[in-house]
Amino acid sequence: MGEGVDGVLAGLRARAAVARGSVSAAERMAYLRSLVAPFDRSSVPVMSLVDRVACDGYRRDRVELEVLPGVRFNAYVLVPAGLRGPAPAVLAVHGHGYGSRQIIGLRPDGVPDADGNDLYGRFAVRLVRKGLVVVAPDVVGFGERMTDVDRVYDPEATSSCYRLSMELLMSGYTLTGLRVAELSGVVDAMLAHPEVDPDRVGVFGHSGGSLWSLIAMALDERIKAGVLCGFANTFADSFLAVRHCACNFAPGLLAVADQPDLLALLAPRPLFLELGADDPIFPASGFRQAVDAVSKAYTDLAATDRFRTDLVPGVEHAVSGRFSFDWLAETLTS
Ligand SMILES: [Zn+2]
Repeated sequence: MGEGVDGVLAGLRARAAVARGSVSAAERMAYLRSLVAPFDRSSVPVMSLVDRVACDGYRRDRVELEVLPGVRFNAYVLVPAGLRGPAPAVLAVHGHGYGSRQIIGLRPDGVPDADGNDLYGRFAVRLVRKGLVVVAPDVVGFGERMTDVDRVYDPEATSSCYRLSMELLMSGYTLTGLRVAELSGVVDAMLAHPEVDPDRVGVFGHSGGSLWSLIAMALDERIKAGVLCGFANTFADSFLAVRHCACNFAPGLLAVADQPDLLALLAPRPLFLELGADDPIFPASGFRQAVDAVSKAYTDLAATDRFRTDLVPGVEHAVSGRFSFDWLAETLTS
């Protein structure tokens, strides 16, 4: 037993709050760029077809991407059936779990998941059925992209977040930076895809996927609209209140921005924030605070009509999509 550490932490939080009160949006953008800058993207992204399957209402391509030199990984590209010409497209970003298969209705072994009612609710499939081309990459550290060390020596590990985060930290970097660099490279590849309208690209993330989507969108004006589910909050109510994965934390961020400050960087681009009202790790109280702050940012830019929110009753840490799917499709189509 001991006393005092809570006081130390409270003092540091208070000092960080004072510091970030005088940080400009430009300085916040510079901080985000510094996370991504160490990871050079390939000048010409490579996307090659691995497998093609006709599904109910859409075509499912499995592709291999190389967007950082020498780093290859897979993604699914879902294309609406009967598509003629380039279409609006969405980058679909999963969070913790077993990778891109989890958001397109497949089990980890690639067999169709008859149930599929997990926290992701097959959101990539539901988006392609709205007429959007969907690109769902495997985020590094999950599923097929776990490291060999974790696969071989730690059969209980469900991700490589911890190992990758700690090794990158030893070099002064973050796993968030690497993940966002890869997502920006995926956007490069999307824009070169013949079935994608390069002027109508959005992003849809859930949970950790929303963190990386948020930063990718902040840094990349080519992403025209975003839906961030299961994430919007304050750091004090979420990352600093309940146990969250090590991959979510970035050195010194608290003195630069709170979560609402980061979300406000997206204004005036169209933004939809969704949360389950019963989410235990991103509580509704923190969501309301974030919504108030972000709403003010959109009002200041005379863009209130571009900001939508949905606090979904009876839902925990899961995608609902009851309004956000149609909103994204209409926003990217109009
Ligand atoms: Zn993680």
